[in-house]
Amino acid sequence: MNLTTYDQAIEIIEGAAKRQKLSFEKIALEDCVGKVCYEDVLSPEDVPSFNNSAMDGFLIKAEWTRNASQTNPVYLPVHGIIAAGDDSLSADVKAQSLPSTLEIMTGAKVPESGFDSVIKIEDVNCFYDNTGKVIKIEISRHVLSGENMRLRGEDFKKDQLIIKKDTKLSSEHILALAALGVSSLCVYKRLRVAVLSTGRELVHYSQNLHACGIRNSTGPYLQSVFQKQGCDVKYSGFVSDDPYEFKKIIHQTLDTGIDIIITTGAVSMGKYDFVARSLEELGVKKHFHNVAIRPGKPLYFGEFSSGEVIFGVPGNPISTVVAFRFFVLPYIYHLLGLEREKPILAKNVLPFSKPHGFRCFYKAKVHFENAEVYVQILKHQASFMVSSLLEANAWAVIPEEKNKIVN
Ligand code: AMP
Ligand code: MG
Repeated sequence: MNLTTYDQAIEIIEGAAKRQKLSFEKIALEDCVGKVCYEDVLSPEDVPSFNNSAMDGFLIKAEWTRNASQTNPVYLPVHGIIAAGDDSLSADVKAQSLPSTLEIMTGAKVPESGFDSVIKIEDVNCFYDNTGKVIKIEISRHVLSGENMRLRGEDFKKDQLIIKKDTKLSSEHILALAALGVSSLCVYKRLRVAVLSTGRELVHYSQNLHACGIRNSTGPYLQSVFQKQGCDVKYSGFVSDDPYEFKKIIHQTLDTGIDIIITTGAVSMGKYDFVARSLEELGVKKHFHNVAIRPGKPLYFGEFSSGEVIFGVPGNPISTVVAFRFFVLPYIYHLLGLEREKPILAKNVLPFSKPHGFRCFYKAKVHFENAEVYVQILKHQASFMVSSLLEANAWAVIPEEKNKIVN
């Protein structure tokens, strides 16, 4: 049998992703997390937008304290107070002769002239009137010019590049964008996906299991992983091993506007493995069928003449998981211009063997010790076994040319 290698398959998948044109939409900031930026985002304004105080303290001009010390303190009368949100221009500072000071709170606007620093309240001695108001402060150290000042544009400058095109938006981006007053963004439209499971043995998870039934676990799994990638799962259901029914549903889902179809089951060599044949009858261009991997070898990938792609993945749960993780996800990432995932090298803990000529994706556990990464291939690698997947915290990807791996 002619097997496609993993690297060849990825090249083909990325080629198909390049041909797909994704459209964009403008959406509200609060809906942006997890979406991918369609264009560069520049800062529309300076942040902070005005000079303000980094501390609760007193406004001064640093040069007034040039000779200040414990034995030669400087005394300044206090003429008022500026709180965050107050317009400092309306404070009575202008009427006062300098040197004098104003009490200022964290985040409050520093008046345009006269002051260049803030000395924090912990660093001065305060003198109070009988109403408890500070009327004078004593400074006994030299204050540096600019101390405790947050300057206009110190965080973001107007027109500075904030987010590059093709960046996946995180909550940290939302924090920055909200601070900058960006209320909406152009992002790639959600990918529209259909998940179609095949198998006459399949039973919906909410139904009683009949004598020879198997619960459709990979349908809900795929739905969840696509949703996690921000995709719009427009259809998720299952059909019996009936090519006629299968083709009818494929037609119907295409009509609703779909970018990716993923089918599970019926791509191997069995009597009821009809998917590849049915897709050929539907005019799908087959890019590959059968890849030199374990698990998940019978994987199918094709493209409709109208541009949609279809992954036909084998039905065993771990084959489906591997197909999504190592084939579908790279397709989505490439489509959205996201950077390809980079694996890390780990030291093997327990010797094991694998089939030569196949790239193997094994459920594994990694741990860190003395700045080294160690990996243990778990027991129960069979592609129907989900229990070991729950134990795993990583995938071990073992190259084709190896067959015995020692530590
Ligand atoms: P197939 O790829 O159709 O030959 O199926 C291979 C194995 O995976 C069989 O044991 C199926 O019963 C099982 N299987 C197929 N589809 C699913 C599914 N959606 N959820 C769980 N197991 C499945
Ligand atoms: Mg089947």
